[in-house]
Amino acid sequence: MSINEQMVQDIVQDVLAKMQIASDVQGDRGVFKDMNEAIEAAKASQKIVAKMSLDHREKVISNIRKKIMENAEILARMGVQETGMGNVGHKILKHQLVAEKTPGTEDITTQAWSGDRGGLTLIEMGPFGVIGAITPCTNPSETVLCNTIGMFAGGNTVVFNPHPAAIKTSIYAVNLLNEASVEAGGPDNIACTVEHPTLETSNIMMKHPAIQLIAATGGPGVVTAVLSSGRRGIGAGAGNPPALVDETADIRKAAEDIVNGCTFDNNLPCIAEKEIVAVDSIADELMHYMVNEQGCYLASKEEQDALTNVVLAGGKLNRKCVGRDAKTLLGMIGVTVPDNIRCITFEGPKEHPLIATELMMPILGVVRAKDFDDAVEQAVWLEHGNRHSAHIHSKNVDRITKYAKAIDTAILVKNGPSYAALGFGGEGFCTFTIASRTGEGLTSASSFTKRRRCVMTDSLCIR
Ligand code: NAD
Repeated sequence: MSINEQMVQDIVQDVLAKMQIASDVQGDRGVFKDMNEAIEAAKASQKIVAKMSLDHREKVISNIRKKIMENAEILARMGVQETGMGNVGHKILKHQLVAEKTPGTEDITTQAWSGDRGGLTLIEMGPFGVIGAITPCTNPSETVLCNTIGMFAGGNTVVFNPHPAAIKTSIYAVNLLNEASVEAGGPDNIACTVEHPTLETSNIMMKHPAIQLIAATGGPGVVTAVLSSGRRGIGAGAGNPPALVDETADIRKAAEDIVNGCTFDNNLPCIAEKEIVAVDSIADELMHYMVNEQGCYLASKEEQDALTNVVLAGGKLNRKCVGRDAKTLLGMIGVTVPDNIRCITFEGPKEHPLIATELMMPILGVVRAKDFDDAVEQAVWLEHGNRHSAHIHSKNVDRITKYAKAIDTAILVKNGPSYAALGFGGEGFCTFTIASRTGEGLTSASSFTKRRRCVMTDSLCIR
């Protein structure tokens, strides 16, 4: 192979980018060698946070938002480079979304009753103290930043045990959070972590008496571990969201929305469309638009088999395929496609391994259903009882309601791309911790607080 000038330039660019990222990883505020030290530091910090006014907490949060916006590109590049997963442009958008739409102290509200007994009773949302948080490699800094804004708004500090495959990116985010706090007159160590997170450091965290609440964002293993820890747990687990399309939908728009949602950050978001269930009468039309207008590559039976062998090598999800783009995935099976190919599609039964498994890559199998009821049944099966996310494209409100009740998920997007559920092109706030297993749903500051009843008798009712 001969080396031309362009190749040399590409190599130089790559090395410069790596050097830039290496020099970006400088600060180590909140980073400890030992998990017990990290927890003690977060505990000392929380004593200060507990005395801060809500206004002061909000001032810190504003500075965190500003710093996330300033660092969105660095964080996005670092995340992609360290994990090898995702898309830089989309990750920038995800960080901007965290900065702009993660709720702060306004989410901490008070409920009040006053009445005939002449008194006043309040329900106040108070902090747990130090929260333990376990974060995934798929949205590493997004989750660290989003969790901390909510937890800190609720008066807590947080200790992270991040995914080891994303530790640099997570440390960068932790440092940024503490810098933002100190600059705004808050304490250091509002977010802490360890240099080398392992299952052992995770266990230390889960058993430490200072940790009364653990928020786990990841696959089924970590959620089960946290729910077995004896601590209160917020379990944000796996999904396998189906997108159901019926004959009343705008089929062309459904194809566009579904492929946009599926390919966002190379399908890493847990809420992203992972497969389609289409009623028979519109299935061909839908696939026509997907292939001819939305950059989907129609994989042959042989290509599906080859992909299955690579993606689910030995029946196990191949981490080297997770979060890769369609062109790269096809390259792994020796198929060369142009750059405008952004998704791989094919028709298959719901049991097809590339359809039934949560892959987190832009492979979007289409399951044909004979009618709407059959589509609901197949979609419910494909969601595997995770009760996480599901999507539907239909103009029939009764059908949407029927589907919503049958699939019973924390998120159901109607007639839009899945990311609308995160507040991106949809109403509502942003989160990267969707507590499907434990029922909090889309978490925000109030999810990280405990309810306290304050009762005053015989006074303060002025009605
Ligand atoms: P993962 O389960 O491999 O890892 C998640 C975190 O849990 C990591 O920090 C990991 O080190 C830790 N972990 C794993 N097993 C553990 C155990 N037994 N004890 C303690 N810690 C353990 O997941 P991932 O690949 O990083 O992320 C992808 C998965 O997370 C997908 O299944 C996706 O659906 C899910 N996810 C869910 C949400 C949500 O909000 N519900 C958000 C993002 C990702």
